[in-house]
Amino acid sequence: MATYEYRCRDCGRFEVRLPIGTASAVFDCPECRSPASRVFSSPYLSQVSPTTARARSREEQSREAPEVVTSVPAPRRRQPPHPALQRLPRP
Ligand SMILES: [Zn+2]
Repeated sequence: MATYEYRCRDCGRFEVRLPIGTASAVFDCPECRSPASRVFSSPYLSQVSPTTARARSREEQSREAPEVVTSVPAPRRRQPPHPALQRLPRP
């Protein structure tokens, strides 16, 4: 069995457990019975670091409700190159 994710236009996302390879592109929503399209997302990985999990969660949220800014973000300060790079041979 595998978990497949679908998205209904009115009710949102829901998951369905089906035998592997049997998921169709459209599945009826359990709430309103209208056809919902399949959503492809990364599989759950138990060894994901908290930083990666936060980044993935933020990325998933931005699909539905992107963050809105009111001003242009400040440019990032460029970090100096690592000192070891100075010792590398030059052509
Ligand atoms: Zn629905």
